[in-house]
Amino acid sequence: MLSRLSLWFSNLPTKSKLQFGFGLIIALIVLSTGIGFIDINAESKAREKVGYSQKESILAGNLKAEMIKVRLQESQGGILFLTGGTPIEEIIAPISDQTKQTLDLLAELERVDTEFSKLEQDTTITEKRKASIEEIRNLVLEYDRRIQDMIFQMVNVRGDEETGLAAELLNNLDQINRFVDASDAISKANVYIGFSDITSTGIELQAEIEELRTKVNETDLSEEKKSSVLDLIDETLSKSEEIRQIDLGVSAGYFGLTTLSADIETKAEEFSEEASLQQEQILNDLENIQQRGRYIQLIVGLLTVALAILLTTIISQSISKPIGILTKMTQTISSGAYTQRTNIKTNDEVGELAKSFDKMAGEIQQREAHLVAQAEELKIATAQAQSAARIKSEFLANMSHELRTPLNAIIGFSDMLLMGIAGELNSQQRHQVERLRLNGNRLLALVNDILDLTRIEAKRVELILKPFAPRALSERLGSQMEVLAKENALKFEVKVDSNVPDQLIGDEKRIEQVMVNLISNAFKFTHQGSVRLEIKTNLPERQWTIAVTDTGIGIPPHAINMIFEEFRQLDGTSTRAYQGSGLGLAITRNLVRIMNGEIKVQSKLGEGSTFTVILPILEEGPAGQKAEPVVAAPVTV
Ligand code: ADP
Repeated sequence: MLSRLSLWFSNLPTKSKLQFGFGLIIALIVLSTGIGFIDINAESKAREKVGYSQKESILAGNLKAEMIKVRLQESQGGILFLTGGTPIEEIIAPISDQTKQTLDLLAELERVDTEFSKLEQDTTITEKRKASIEEIRNLVLEYDRRIQDMIFQMVNVRGDEETGLAAELLNNLDQINRFVDASDAISKANVYIGFSDITSTGIELQAEIEELRTKVNETDLSEEKKSSVLDLIDETLSKSEEIRQIDLGVSAGYFGLTTLSADIETKAEEFSEEASLQQEQILNDLENIQQRGRYIQLIVGLLTVALAILLTTIISQSISKPIGILTKMTQTISSGAYTQRTNIKTNDEVGELAKSFDKMAGEIQQREAHLVAQAEELKIATAQAQSAARIKSEFLANMSHELRTPLNAIIGFSDMLLMGIAGELNSQQRHQVERLRLNGNRLLALVNDILDLTRIEAKRVELILKPFAPRALSERLGSQMEVLAKENALKFEVKVDSNVPDQLIGDEKRIEQVMVNLISNAFKFTHQGSVRLEIKTNLPERQWTIAVTDTGIGIPPHAINMIFEEFRQLDGTSTRAYQGSGLGLAITRNLVRIMNGEIKVQSKLGEGSTFTVILPILEEGPAGQKAEPVVAAPVTV
């Protein structure tokens, strides 16, 4: 599975690899941020819960404290109750106030709890809490109701001076007092009504009223009167009993409050404890959330780093390793080991590159083999050509030499015949022998030219470099050519620039041969106008030039390069208008080349031509310089 996954990954294009890697890292970062965000949310919710729980806990504590205060008031009231003399309203009023405060506190607690419950998911907890608050509130309300009931009853009993059972009792006693002395009973009744010791005073009052019965019987009142007073006493007695019963009820009720308040206090305490426990639980939860958040972030962070390292390693391995192999392979192949291959088989860009590279190496290998074979063939062909050229040159040189001997004999004997050594010749004979000599001389010139050319080609020409005077050479040529100019009715000019040195180094004979060739051609191909020889120098370039200009027939542009080839004449027909062998310019170019110079032509058909030979100005050096090999090359125009 893992190896399939790694194969799949290594076959992905590099761009996808990078996208995949970065995507995964970004996803992890987003995940960790998301978790962090959820944790922050949970944490802030937990904090809010802590806040409410703390408030609730404080309120529960206050409730408990309030109930303790109620119970304190209660017991103080109980003492006052028992010691007597304090009206019950006075005893109960502070308890009632305290109860009101308790209810206010409960209302606040309920409000806080409602907010708190909104944050709580577990409804059983919120329901339980709500029920507890409701229970406490109901108990407190019951407590308050009982207190209010007590106050009501007391008011009902005592009321003000004219109304209520107490007023009626005093009123009855006042009436009895008119017949018998009831002052003791009145004062007792006053104490009783003033809410003194209800248990004993009530009974004492009843005893006093009973005593009045005796007093009435002892008086001398009429029986009828006695009976009505005794009825009044009975009524008074039953009123006092009624009051006493009510008082006893109130008293029992008052002391019964204690149980209720104790109950409330217990409930408040329980609630307070519950709230504290809950607060503790919430704080624990908060701590857990924080801890979990830290762990998750740490794990995700570590995972991200590990993944980043893993991906970087895999990606760099899958890119840099093959590139390393490719680089090494390039070096190997460039050193000539064309059989080497990368053997990288992945399907990504690097794999493609390696495939192309291997293909290229294969092609280079093939081409190399082909080139080697070609080079071998060329070597053989060159050797064959060289040997053929050598054989040709040797043959021509030998042939020329062999031809010159009989030719010289022909010319020599023609001369002797013309000189009349063998007797006078008649005019026809003379004419024929002269033609013989002329053609013999032409043939000799041709043979000489061939010999010259073959010598140069066979590298058998040696330049004799020594100082010569260009001015003197030009003048000499000028006077030599003067005759030719006159014969052709042409103007011939020789011009040597003033900055041409008096002496130059070179092979004067060969230079002269070049000049003669060019001037002869100029005369040959010019019918009217002029021929000019001009010698100039280009000192900064260390060069001097020979320029031969004519106003002759000119050379067509397509033929400019051809005229330097051997035996090449523009008018190649057998009935040629101009005589010549077609070797002059070939020899001239070869001579110029072995003198390290070059020859250029500028020509316009029908207007004339200028042949310019550019030669280096040589420093004086060892005489006798071996000619350089002559290589055929196009002439610059
Ligand atoms: P050739 O012995 O025929 O003169 P060259 O090699 O000297 O042989 O010249 C080759 C050809 O170049 C000539 O046949 C001629 O057609 C042409 N040529 C040479 N010089 C001139 C010139 N000055 N004006 C016109 N054509 C020329």
